[in-house]
Amino acid sequence: MRAMLLDHPRQPLRLAHVAARTPGAGEILLRVVACGVCRTDLHIADGDLPEIRSPVIPGHEIVGVVETLGADVAGFAPGQRVGVPWLGGTCGHCRYCTSGRENLCDDARFTGYHLDGGYAEYTVADARYCFPLPAEYADAAAAPLLCAGLIGYRSLVAAGNARRLGIYGFGAAAHIVCQIAVWQGRDVFAFTRAGDVSAQDFARKLGARWAGDSTASTPAPLDAAIIFAPVGALVPIALRATAKGGVVVCAGIHMSEIPAFPYEILWGERTIVSVANLTRRDGTEFFTLAPRVPVRTEVVTFPLAQANEAMARVREGRITGAAVLVTPGF
Ligand SMILES: [Zn+2]
Ligand SMILES: [Zn+2]
Repeated sequence: MRAMLLDHPRQPLRLAHVAARTPGAGEILLRVVACGVCRTDLHIADGDLPEIRSPVIPGHEIVGVVETLGADVAGFAPGQRVGVPWLGGTCGHCRYCTSGRENLCDDARFTGYHLDGGYAEYTVADARYCFPLPAEYADAAAAPLLCAGLIGYRSLVAAGNARRLGIYGFGAAAHIVCQIAVWQGRDVFAFTRAGDVSAQDFARKLGARWAGDSTASTPAPLDAAIIFAPVGALVPIALRATAKGGVVVCAGIHMSEIPAFPYEILWGERTIVSVANLTRRDGTEFFTLAPRVPVRTEVVTFPLAQANEAMARVREGRITGAAVLVTPGF
């Protein structure tokens, strides 16, 4: 099969021919039809995360069609469309796995990081961590649901019942969370890179009550803020915008250093919390919710071989919605 390989961090991905793996017990072989480009893929390519496999096939928002089943696979059949998310496996017995927090498993394995992912024509996944996908979504439109949607949903839950919700960074996850939050009756305030008029227009189109620069003062105190941009300087900015008792949710896997800030902006029972990974329960809840809203994803598609270009566009914020690699143009 053809695949885009990351040989070493800080190098472009390389198009290569490699053998597709044969599915082992409990695994399924999927023909990849679409794979989203997540900011985490950039952090992997940049070497921001520890112990990156070499080489590795990135990609953890995989929409695939079941080709063959390994031994002992239940619940999936050849020809079925399934989604493969970031959480690719857990130990099943640590204190996190046994208390409903498998997202924090000490021995978790992540797709496109510890395990080869979806920047390829085929991939192999542990069937227990795959999701059937709602039929309402076309292949490319479904891809961003698998991480931007899932992690966004978990971040929104972490924001509690906030009525006024600030969102910092209006990329793939934000455009999904905004739609859910508006549908839930919340007021969304979207904060973007300074001068990013198109992202601000996009946020208003999706129902945000207000959109402006992250450096602008908030038009009203927030009850919660979700930070999707990997920019530590946004933490004190979001804290200052958040009312007493409010929560600031850091939703990314990596963030630049958070600058020192005076205690008074945390005082008043404000909370800072991070959101890490996903549980399978998040997936079940989110894939039930998304078609009800209905969440509509906006995607920009690229042939698989143009993964480097797609990643560059995500890095520069030059994507409205989500970037998705598709195999037909490969
Ligand atoms: Zn575990
Ligand atoms: Zn992701």
